[in-house]
Amino acid sequence: MERIKKFKAKDKIVLLRVDYNVDFNKKGKILDDFRISRTIPTIKYLLSLKSKIIIATHIGRPKFPVSDLSTIRLKNHLENILNEKIIFSKNFQSIEKEIIKKLPNSIILLENLRFFKGEEENKLSFAKSLAKLADVFVFEAFSVAHRKHASVDKLPKILKSYYGFLIEEEIYNLKKILNYKKEPITLIIGGAKEKTKLPLIKFWLNRANFILLGGIIAHDFLKTYGIELGRSLFSVEYVKEAKKILETKNKKAKIILPEDLSILSSQRKKNSALNNLGYKDNALDIGKKTIEKFKKIISESSLIIYNGPMGYIEDKRFAVGTYKIIKAIANSKSFSVTGGGETLLILKKTGLRDKFNFISTGGGAMLEFLSNKPLVISKFISD
Ligand code: ADP
Ligand code: MG
Repeated sequence: MERIKKFKAKDKIVLLRVDYNVDFNKKGKILDDFRISRTIPTIKYLLSLKSKIIIATHIGRPKFPVSDLSTIRLKNHLENILNEKIIFSKNFQSIEKEIIKKLPNSIILLENLRFFKGEEENKLSFAKSLAKLADVFVFEAFSVAHRKHASVDKLPKILKSYYGFLIEEEIYNLKKILNYKKEPITLIIGGAKEKTKLPLIKFWLNRANFILLGGIIAHDFLKTYGIELGRSLFSVEYVKEAKKILETKNKKAKIILPEDLSILSSQRKKNSALNNLGYKDNALDIGKKTIEKFKKIISESSLIIYNGPMGYIEDKRFAVGTYKIIKAIANSKSFSVTGGGETLLILKKTGLRDKFNFISTGGGAMLEFLSNKPLVISKFISD
């Protein structure tokens, strides 16, 4: 797999794997087209080569085809931003290369790849049936670059393949973060999904100077001290691992846990010290003192890696911690990098997106890359 700039042939049929897994509002409008807009340079480049582009993406995690997750919902938006009429193909298995060649349109949009079993089952036969449609393959779906799915793991083995400008940018920036030398380095992790976040914390234990924890993952760590957290969410299965991390000898990083929490107690929001939670209380955000402590470290950091909400952001009252931490990062002089599903949703709401130095389109893929785990796509990337 080579960088897309090396692809110069004209009039080819290009199969383009992107990740347009976006959310829609009730009227069908796309809530945030960030992931789409980041792939436009590659599409424009291909159009300049007079390619016919077959766009392939997934949306959601369908067990079977459902209209809510059909990619036809993307068609209007794509037509508008690209100023091109797009043909939608419900079943790519019934079209042929010869027909595609003769189409007056430059862009064909395929139905949700995950409507076809072979995609998630990583079937070579499925990848072959896709490959039949095109001359070359372009991979531009960073957020699934860690998935062992047919369009990631198999297609590059079949077709002459390139990676797009977005992949190049993601890898360049995330590599830079992995090799960052200027300290202090601060990792700020919240949310849940311990399975992907604990390896990141482990990897940075001897690289970062500070690891600040909020959200549900912080509760796992607080639980290792036997702290009463009432009804607050935490994961029993990860408390042991949290304990191991805390007890790791000679680690460089200081792990900083919340010292107070914003809780819901008898239906009211309260700021509570750690040892003050009743068995019916629910901790939904980091507390005021914690915010101040985190802010101070943020203001002195050279590099900040941020992922995961500090609290239950779906309720405005408990989005305060996350908002303030984002604001502090935005106002700091540090090199700041962020990514993640919910993280990006709240970041958009703050209007501070432009203040971050790099925003990855990957959640899991970014976390794996920054945990120094090779992505599924990495083995194909030769230069
Ligand atoms: P991301 O996708 O940004 O990596 P995660 O998927 O790991 O983030 O977690 C995000 C979710 O964690 C949010 O929906 C948020 O409501 C939830 N969350 C964070 N802290 C709490 C908390 N204290 N109580 C309940 N939910 C929380
Ligand atoms: Mg998420």
